[in-house]
Amino acid sequence: MSPRAPKTPKPKGLIRRKRAPTVTTPPTDPLPDAPKAATARAAVLDPGARAAPNLSEAPDLTATPLDKISFKELNPRALIAPNFRVYELTKSDLASRRAIDNDFTSEQHLRAAIHLARHVLQPIRDTFGSFTPNSVYRSQALERVLKNKPTTWLSTSQHARGEACDIEIVGMATLTLASWARDHLADFDQIICECYDPRQGPNSGWVHISLKAPGQGPNRRQCLSYVPDTSGRLVYVSGLQATA
Ligand SMILES: [Zn+2]
Repeated sequence: MSPRAPKTPKPKGLIRRKRAPTVTTPPTDPLPDAPKAATARAAVLDPGARAAPNLSEAPDLTATPLDKISFKELNPRALIAPNFRVYELTKSDLASRRAIDNDFTSEQHLRAAIHLARHVLQPIRDTFGSFTPNSVYRSQALERVLKNKPTTWLSTSQHARGEACDIEIVGMATLTLASWARDHLADFDQIICECYDPRQGPNSGWVHISLKAPGQGPNRRQCLSYVPDTSGRLVYVSGLQATA
């Protein structure tokens, strides 16, 4: 049971579709993401974590082209989209709790995450108001801990390249958010409606959205859902849908 989601009425017009066949092409983010309950609870109960930095001295880089943003000397408080700052791209409760380094180690990944903030996070913020992403960039070290992998394992998740985010809007059905993103984002690589069970409340599950960094090839505009199959095993299926 989610320890944080208040009971809210189910939104009208919830999109329900028949289950699509299991996808044969494995997506690039083949495992569930960060423990959402913990991250979302922290966002709700610990607003001070977001407000702590002194934002008055932060540089405004909202109009700075990606190739002009330097990896070194970057102020974590710098505004990189109208409503998002650098530190929000690496924020991770799991990394904080386990003292895992989740800072960017590559300019490419930093710029990819800023590109995502400007073209995915910001349009969602403009439409639905303030929210804290559950997860954007995840270092290889964080990926290994999150997915319980050995030190030799390398994640292929787009999170590890700064090209993906996991989000939810409090009180808004996860499937509704995923559908909105599909219909309104100018571009996206993948939208995955993950583990959304409306019986568990509108905020069960989360929406994974990826966007390739400039120069990384065309975006696939692929919509998937991560749901249990008839045997209860979680699988990716094409299209956006709830688990039941
Ligand atoms: Zn994800």
